Amino acid sequence: MRILVQKFGGTSVANAERLLQVKNKITDGFERGFDKIIVVLSAMSGETNRLLALARERCSNPDPAEMDSLVSTGEQVSVALFAMLLKENGIRARSVLGFQIPIHTDTEFGSARILDIDSEKISQLLENYDVLVVAGFQGYTLTGRISTLGRGGSDTSAVALAAAMQAELCEIYTDVEGVYTTDPNICSKAQKIDRISYEEMLEMASMGAKVLQIRSVAFAKRYNIPLFVRSTFCNNTGTLLTEEDESMETAMISGIAYDKDQARITLADVEDNPGIAAQIFLPISNAGIIVDMIVQNPSHDGLTDMTFTVPRASLNKTLSILEKLKTELSYRELLFDDAVSKISVIGVGMRNHSGIAAVTFSTLQKENINIMIISTSEIKISCLIEEKYTELAIRSLHEAFGLDKEE
Ligand code: ADP
Ligand code: ASP
Ligand code: MG
Repeated sequence: MRILVQKFGGTSVANAERLLQVKNKITDGFERGFDKIIVVLSAMSGETNRLLALARERCSNPDPAEMDSLVSTGEQVSVALFAMLLKENGIRARSVLGFQIPIHTDTEFGSARILDIDSEKISQLLENYDVLVVAGFQGYTLTGRISTLGRGGSDTSAVALAAAMQAELCEIYTDVEGVYTTDPNICSKAQKIDRISYEEMLEMASMGAKVLQIRSVAFAKRYNIPLFVRSTFCNNTGTLLTEEDESMETAMISGIAYDKDQARITLADVEDNPGIAAQIFLPISNAGIIVDMIVQNPSHDGLTDMTFTVPRASLNKTLSILEKLKTELSYRELLFDDAVSKISVIGVGMRNHSGIAAVTFSTLQKENINIMIISTSEIKISCLIEEKYTELAIRSLHEAFGLDKEE
């Protein structure tokens, strides 16, 4: 049996007219010879944000499990509406919610991880239906609560379902034509990439390219799922994610990503003793906060500055942890800045080229953009800069690395 998984994001299901375009993609899937289609839908664009705001208007610290019960409803609306549209058009379809399969997750509400998916149940449903319209983003804990997979989580629902059902192909339909060298909504000279390695896409997604949720790429890589990113609104081929191959090595830089979801914290004049980093970062990590970039300044008179970044949404929580530790850590001052952004230059070809860092730094220097923190890996260089320079930095790096498309 040839199974196809197709996922449609928020803008693709935003209104009745667009749902008709989504229906055409399903029909197209059958015309391409697939026997069964699992459709994964997101909430209509803006809906998840609206639900989050509703909760925050009422509670300063909403219960995480109730929050997931609330925000998962956006996807329920989409799947019910779409399944009724398909039925009306004579397609044997039904909607399926996360708990009805179930898609089991852990209890990390708000960013739950998929533990397993009952593929047997899906196979049974596929005996009676040709299209299953599954709610993305949501899961079901072993303790019987509804969970959600983190922002952009429908991508992960789709890839996990493709893995569980050994689907031939997984297609992620969105509002752009594929993965680009940088966000095409920011840089009009961005070029569509035809093929990208899982590894590069993992870096792009981790560095902020929200076109795919990071975990969906990790899943696709682990289970070797052929994954296409395509547009709902045209018929172009899109971008294929695959294993790295020789032709990719020749491209030095595959893209520039940005992440505005960052906040910078500095602990000024901390005593530079062995174990100081553990003293600072253990309580932060125990609170479930992910620290990203870290720099420790050279010591002066036994004192040092520790600067690092956390997700912007975790800034207040991190500050309150550090304030409570003031006596223990004996720092002079706690400084923070949430108007920062992280710009990353990514490419597997970096392994074989020197000078990428130098070009990155001199390009930013030419624009008079100050770099606050630098971090590198084998295939990426990231710089933390003032948020207001994000677009300028992206466009100038895009040009400096020869990524601009020809007009
Ligand atoms: P969906 O609602 O379909 O899941 P998202 O908004 O989550 O869509 O992701 C698509 C968006 O990702 C695009 O509209 C684009 O602005 C953004 N994006 C960021 N970086 C890239 C990139 N490198 N290539 C393509 N899109 C990107
Ligand atoms: N609706 C969820 C979100 O906005 C999940 C998704 O769109 O993938 O994050
Ligand atoms: Mg998305």
